[in-house]
Amino acid sequence: MDLILGRSGASKFYFDAPEFGCTETLFGGAETMPRTILIIEDEEKIAQWVYTYFEQANFAVRLARDGQLGLKMAQDQPPDLIVLDLNLPGLDGLEVCRTLRRDPRTSVANVPIIMLTARVEEIDRLIGLEVGADDYLTKPFSPRELVARAQAIFRRIDRTAGAQRVLTDGDLMVEVEAHQASLAGQPLDLTPSEFAVLVALLEHRGRTLSRSQLIELALGHDYDGMERTVDVYVRGLRRKIEVDATQPERILTVFGVGYRYA
Ligand code: CA
Repeated sequence: MDLILGRSGASKFYFDAPEFGCTETLFGGAETMPRTILIIEDEEKIAQWVYTYFEQANFAVRLARDGQLGLKMAQDQPPDLIVLDLNLPGLDGLEVCRTLRRDPRTSVANVPIIMLTARVEEIDRLIGLEVGADDYLTKPFSPRELVARAQAIFRRIDRTAGAQRVLTDGDLMVEVEAHQASLAGQPLDLTPSEFAVLVALLEHRGRTLSRSQLIELALGHDYDGMERTVDVYVRGLRRKIEVDATQPERILTVFGVGYRYA
């Protein structure tokens, strides 16, 4: 079960310990700062859960409980993305969005905005020219879905900007384009093939990949019966990223099939 926020009448909120695991974090250019999310939401529980989910997905999160404050925070220090509730006390989400879009500074005017609304009838206006939100979710919504939407927006932005893709799993961090990996802050000395296999496994986390699929994903070609070479790369990787290479907890063997990143 996924956590659903904003369900009317719900007195309790359940947290199903989602596997944040391999969150894909996208950093702009050569910067190493996490992306900033500004949440403008007056409902305490929703705000807190959304905050928690973004934080666990390695974003830097700020929170405003009303439209006026949210607008000021966005203008003073533009975040990388705004999660904006439509129905806010004082200045409502529509006005906040319109005001931001009219701002003469592009850093403010172009901030991606995901709207939260319980009013289904408003959706066309929200993402239309009139208001100018980038995406929306209707309440009740899953915060996991919200984080996924934000990441999708960042992927779109980065595809055009050519920024770095960073894959993480706990203390393991892989900067894909830079061909760098580190464990607990210490650089890992991986061969190019090991690095490529690790990226392929992380990108398909939770899915079992056959040896030939791994070869194709990692090295971009069919190895013609040399599939067992994958075992060599995996052994090398395990020595470098597992606490105990004989009891792997990250790269698991799926007997008779291949490998799966846990
Ligand atoms: Ca509200």
